[in-house]
Amino acid sequence: MKKMLMFTCFAATVLLAASANVSQAQGQPAPDHPVVTVHGQTYTPRSILARNMGTEEDQTKPFPPHAIVGNVYYVGTRTLSSFLVVTPRGNILIDSTYERNVPVIQKSVEQLGFKFSDIKILLGNHAHGDHQEGDALVKQMTGAQVMAMAEDVPALRAIQPGGKEHPIDRILHDRDGVTLGGTTLVAHLTPGHTRGCTTWTMKAQERGRTYNVMFGCSLRPPAVLTPAIVDEFHRSFKLVHALPCDVQLGDHGAQYNMQEKFARIQNGGSNPFIEPATCKVEQEIEEAMFDAILDQQEKARR
Ligand SMILES: [Zn+2]
Repeated sequence: MKKMLMFTCFAATVLLAASANVSQAQGQPAPDHPVVTVHGQTYTPRSILARNMGTEEDQTKPFPPHAIVGNVYYVGTRTLSSFLVVTPRGNILIDSTYERNVPVIQKSVEQLGFKFSDIKILLGNHAHGDHQEGDALVKQMTGAQVMAMAEDVPALRAIQPGGKEHPIDRILHDRDGVTLGGTTLVAHLTPGHTRGCTTWTMKAQERGRTYNVMFGCSLRPPAVLTPAIVDEFHRSFKLVHALPCDVQLGDHGAQYNMQEKFARIQNGGSNPFIEPATCKVEQEIEEAMFDAILDQQEKARR
């Protein structure tokens, strides 16, 4: 109950503060309908986008970097996720976010006691600027190999901050593995939000136990659903539902209640990020929204 309340407060605050910024950040304003209710919480396309993005300041200010589980760390901003996976052979970064955030991420990596130059592989969540605009700069600073899902390659190539070409060193396909220093991340194609939206999974060890970590890709549907996008989402919802999950993460902290879970770390006790029971809540929200948009679209056609 407490968790839900805090989440609501956070969402409401962000909503008020962010509505002006959100359309600017993602290029198009999100509508305030349809309305869906999941686990007692009400959502609209606009409120979900506002919850995800926060204010412009939220997108740029670092969130305190922290250990999530095993060798997985958070190094992103208040609302744009960036994850560091640490191995004895160097590290993997998931999501560079906006190019202007790269120095912020570097500082967070260093605050945790790691070297930015130890990043050997750069992976991405999906081909939108708020998650992968900084790829070229990260590569320039670290020499990391940049790997991307084939279906997202055209959209990534179009992201060229300051005219920089988008680097891609290895093209991935559904269920390809990326291995470094004993850790393997598996790339699952979960399209819909973008053609190559990628849900990453890996196993992390903590206190002698192994946990399934899922770095979820955005399942936020666009305002207009074409038959091809409908097919993509159906496939993705089914796939995500079936993935084993003990620790759910997402490309925006709000998708996994990061701020509230982080607050729980400070209280000590068990690791708040290990929470299999809430692993699929974000999927339920987005699937409810997808169904409502589809329904609305079909009614308008009749
Ligand atoms: Zn996106």
